[in-house]
Amino acid sequence: MSPIILIVEDEKDLLTTLDYNLEREGYRTRTAATGAEALAQAFLDPAPDLILLDLMLPDLPGTEVCRRLRADERTRDVPVMMVTAKGSEIDRVVGFEIGADDYVVKPFSLRELLLRVRALLRRARTVAEEGDELIFGRLRVDPPGHRVWVDDDEKMLTALEFRLLTTFHARRGRVQTRETLLSDVWGYQADVTTRTVDTHVKRLREKLGDAGAYVETVRGVGYRFRARPDEVGE
Ligand code: CA
Repeated sequence: MSPIILIVEDEKDLLTTLDYNLEREGYRTRTAATGAEALAQAFLDPAPDLILLDLMLPDLPGTEVCRRLRADERTRDVPVMMVTAKGSEIDRVVGFEIGADDYVVKPFSLRELLLRVRALLRRARTVAEEGDELIFGRLRVDPPGHRVWVDDDEKMLTALEFRLLTTFHARRGRVQTRETLLSDVWGYQADVTTRTVDTHVKRLREKLGDAGAYVETVRGVGYRFRARPDEVGE
């Protein structure tokens, strides 16, 4: 089955153009012109494989739509490509902070957009096809067994550290704020502060030894698990 792309755009002409061209590329499309429609379309079963999300919508800001998509089990891992106006209200960090996977600035070339859509879908598919065991460079994770190895050396993680690691891995290449991690890994708890996140990330890194370098600190924002094991940090 060809991938489903949800196009969220309130400019009619642009919506029509995108719809036409994505269909011509062989994708199945759904369209929405408001944030509310976007959420309704996104939560349909099956979920879209990718969401093209305009930032300026008449009812809800695209950032809010993105936040709600990330907060929902059904759409948590659907790649989101933000479409922002030129001289934009969003910067790179904000876009990634709210969980967008990529973004394009209007006016964009259709060709570039199609290439990036294809790349993003390919990346998402690789993640899905890895099955139960996760292998990332020197790291090997057995999620059902709750076991982790670095090279052949088994590491003993707490349940929380394990959840932190698999969450990072599932969202690799994407910046995670402390707040996102708190809500997704801990679930909001009154006695937990963002400092707690730092403490646990530090401990997780220590336990992983050399593989701890896969978790990078993004100053002033949060953390980012490398997109590829051999990626060189900034
Ligand atoms: Ca718009």
